[in-house]
Amino acid sequence: MICPSRIGQSRFNCILADVPERVITELMRFRRTFFPLLLPLLAIGIATLTLWKWPGLLKTVQGTKELRALLIMLPVLPYAVFAVGILMGWRHNNIGLILTFLVLALTYLTLIHAGTGMTAAKKQGLFIPEVVGFLLPLNLTLFSMLTKRRILTAAFVGCFLLVLLQTFAVLLLCSWPGAQAPVFTPFIKNISPALAAAMTGTSIRLGSFFHANALTAAFHWLSPGVLSFCGALMFMLAQFLYRRDAFLAGFSGALSAVFLGMIASTPVPAATIYFMAAGLILIVAAFEVSFSMAYVDELTNLQGRRSLNETLLNLGSKYAIAMIDVDHFKKFNDAYGHKTGDQVLKMIAAGLERVSGGAKTFRYGGEEFAAVFPGKTAREAWPYLEEYRQRIASTSFIVRSKGRRKSSAKQRGVQKTEGRKTVQVTVSIGISAPDKRYNNPEKVLKAADKILYRAKKAGRNRMLT
Ligand code: GH3
Ligand code: MG
Ligand code: MG
Repeated sequence: MICPSRIGQSRFNCILADVPERVITELMRFRRTFFPLLLPLLAIGIATLTLWKWPGLLKTVQGTKELRALLIMLPVLPYAVFAVGILMGWRHNNIGLILTFLVLALTYLTLIHAGTGMTAAKKQGLFIPEVVGFLLPLNLTLFSMLTKRRILTAAFVGCFLLVLLQTFAVLLLCSWPGAQAPVFTPFIKNISPALAAAMTGTSIRLGSFFHANALTAAFHWLSPGVLSFCGALMFMLAQFLYRRDAFLAGFSGALSAVFLGMIASTPVPAATIYFMAAGLILIVAAFEVSFSMAYVDELTNLQGRRSLNETLLNLGSKYAIAMIDVDHFKKFNDAYGHKTGDQVLKMIAAGLERVSGGAKTFRYGGEEFAAVFPGKTAREAWPYLEEYRQRIASTSFIVRSKGRRKSSAKQRGVQKTEGRKTVQVTVSIGISAPDKRYNNPEKVLKAADKILYRAKKAGRNRMLT
């Protein structure tokens, strides 16, 4: 397709030029939201494909001398992934990661020892794979909420003890498939035969509840393990959509992968490959989060200053840069408190993110934002930002009265609506493009800042060029 106005840009951009700008902006937003889920899905897909093609792969590997060693090492490879994960968790000071990899390693160990088949019911008592399958999603749910907690805190010690307690309880009350009594029964029998009998009795009572409850009676496939997996997955996905935290997408993917590994008929290679995939998904999520921490502003979710600087370095010769500043924001904070101010900044940033015209938007710092329009002149970029400025000026932000101070009623633009207060916030914008004097992005940005200052002096709530 010939696209003379976009010579020098990719063919993909040329095709996109025909699609309305707003649709593209919405698609980009959609892509950004769901991108963290893409990699876990891809990893699960690759793992599934590998297992599907396993017989053929196995033949090739067995026929190649150099690869045969890999086959022998295959069952222990997940431990290497978990060790890397624990190391990363330690380096990132992230107890959620450390505990997750620890529990994955323990679960994988039991699967290799006892076999998979979480849904298969044992006739009497509890048996290890089904209880581990039930506990794992609950543990991962808890740990997915601890990715911002630090090592050597009460939370870490508490969760570590919880993992130890669970391990101990599983060994006390659950048996390996095929065995008649819980794992620890022979040791306990030596100390107290009565206690050992009580343990076996408890295991049988709990086991009958585990295998024959109202849910399993209604739906034979709905074992407690499946139920805890579905509940945990739904919780994590909902949390991910609410918080947009790449870790939660990683945890959802890792949980799905280990579930597939646990319901598979053989631990090697199925559980091995799915558990490795789960570990890799979490490691990639940790990288993704580190990247976000460096490039994305936590409050507004917009790209930050570092990302702006890199964008400026990679601009062509035609572009426009705009600086956007919230008017009288100090007064707003004084009137309604910093928290409400933060909410307003979030809303202003969300609106800015929706600005179309190929705009790349950033939080410059504080209540200042920047928008870069690659391939557009200031005149071409103008309507997109003007629409945004007008939209902000006509939007009423609802302010909860709790955090409001008494003097706030005197503030400009404040109206009372049914017990709540609504307030208008405005922004001023300075937009600039390269010319003979301002001939590089850094200078253009400074020029935009100067123009913004002029817009403020001219009465605010306006855009100048
Ligand atoms: P002007 O119209 O001239 O821009 O006035 P202003 O009050 O917006 O500008 P000034 O630079 O005097 O104050 C900026 C205020 O923005 C001060 C600071 O409290 C507030 N601010 C900066 N960053 C944040 C933030 O992350 N959250 C909140 N709530 N306020 C912030
Ligand atoms: Mg301001
Ligand atoms: Mg400012």
